[in-house]
Amino acid sequence: MKVFFLAAEAEPYVKVGGLGDVAGSLPHALQEISSPDDFEIRVAIPFHGVIQQQPPPLKFLTTLQIAHYPQPLQAQVYEVEHTPVKTYFISGTPFTRDAPVYSSDTSLDGLKFTFFSLASLEFIQAIDWQPDVVHANDWHTAPALYALLVKHEDFFRHTARVITIHNLPYLGHGAAEALTEFGLPPALNSPLPSWAQQLPLPLGIHAADRIIAVSPTYAKEIQTADFGAGLEEYLSSRQADIVGILNGLDLKTWDPATDAYLAYPYDLRRLSQKVENKRVLFEDLGWKPLPDAPLIGMVTRLDYQKGIDIAIAALRQLKDIPWQAVILGTGNPALEQAVYQLQLEIPDRSRAILRYDPKLSHRLYAAADLLLIPSRYEPCGLAQMIAMRYGTLPIGRATGGLRDTIIDDGNPYASTGFLFQNPQSDELEATIRRAIQIYPNRRAWRAMQRNAMAQDFSWTRSAKAYLSVYQDVVQEKMLYSVSKGVHL
Ligand code: ADP
Repeated sequence: MKVFFLAAEAEPYVKVGGLGDVAGSLPHALQEISSPDDFEIRVAIPFHGVIQQQPPPLKFLTTLQIAHYPQPLQAQVYEVEHTPVKTYFISGTPFTRDAPVYSSDTSLDGLKFTFFSLASLEFIQAIDWQPDVVHANDWHTAPALYALLVKHEDFFRHTARVITIHNLPYLGHGAAEALTEFGLPPALNSPLPSWAQQLPLPLGIHAADRIIAVSPTYAKEIQTADFGAGLEEYLSSRQADIVGILNGLDLKTWDPATDAYLAYPYDLRRLSQKVENKRVLFEDLGWKPLPDAPLIGMVTRLDYQKGIDIAIAALRQLKDIPWQAVILGTGNPALEQAVYQLQLEIPDRSRAILRYDPKLSHRLYAAADLLLIPSRYEPCGLAQMIAMRYGTLPIGRATGGLRDTIIDDGNPYASTGFLFQNPQSDELEATIRRAIQIYPNRRAWRAMQRNAMAQDFSWTRSAKAYLSVYQDVVQEKMLYSVSKGVHL
């Protein structure tokens, strides 16, 4: 089986968000669980400015002409050297050295990513590597699937189309003109709602044989009005093609036993070392621990999606019980201001650290007792998985991947964290109280930490699920071709 995997970003070359984690890890995990004789996956990402500034060792492969109105555009393709999964970078006029990975100019991004999607298909055809599956991710690479559907190229006649939705509300607004310039017509007679017939993600979903959401709960949620971004009815009609697969965690990066950022690495058997990490964090911050106060951490983009306002409102209501909080995050200026305001109000209880700081994030995951994730929606979420691996109990809203990864049984001995239902501060407040009541019960707390640390968040588990989707869809395509009398 041959799989061509397209994404806007992939670690270790370029990472802006969770998509970069997935595209960096999943193809390797898939290749690792498969025999190279039976399965090969190849990855293509854009040769973004940030990669051009510090490229890995590369081999130039070819130049291609991509059909575009009013004139064709040239694409250059490079292959990354010395990597177990063949990885291509595709560049061209839209990818300048100083262009950001994602720009606030949506029509520019529309042009960039439509160009990238079509150049990827052109390239794979030029080297005659006929994929059984093209796997696109989010709106940026969705045009590739739509092109496969509408262009009917003989080369791709047996190619199945798979899309993963990492974040549904980003539909690709602003790309309509680019789609037309690259010869992709609106899907006027499709069952998509009319407003979605010229938007990349809906078109990619429409073209896909399988639609993967990044958690089983998110797979259901996107079929409802609260989470469906207007596509809920269409998505419900495709229910049979929708699969939920949780992302994995990079267990090498996130391992408290070997984490080079930690002053005191620890594991299940040396959990008491966590306290030492807490002591060091307070020293680093020049802050005084309050007696018997659990440390609540937040490591997050400061965005309304993440329920930062809900967290602040809940913490304000909790001045009668002991706790301290460190909020590490950047993003929306109004939310940055609100987090800082909380520190001004209660400086002995709350600290705001308004920057992106990987080292501090590792040290905070290790030092904290609880991690707050009150998201309004959370397709999968990594923070709660990281927290559990570090023996830090998550308090999350029961949505998307939070619901699927945090076990809150009511009984601490059978739980890994705490869940609340609605994105409202009084519910979060009650849940923090529930957690802080258990905190002094060392036996129960330890049991929860052990349960949390024993969870399997490996990519291997996710990769097996993806592999079975590929197998299903390829078989389906084959049966369809046979029934249509297409020569295989
Ligand atoms: P999302 O992808 O929606 O931002 P996730 O929970 O899936 O949320 O992933 C967020 C990742 O970014 C986690 O690895 C988290 O530790 C990291 N992160 C978020 N904010 C910061 C920050 N200010 N400093 C360091 N790491 C951060």
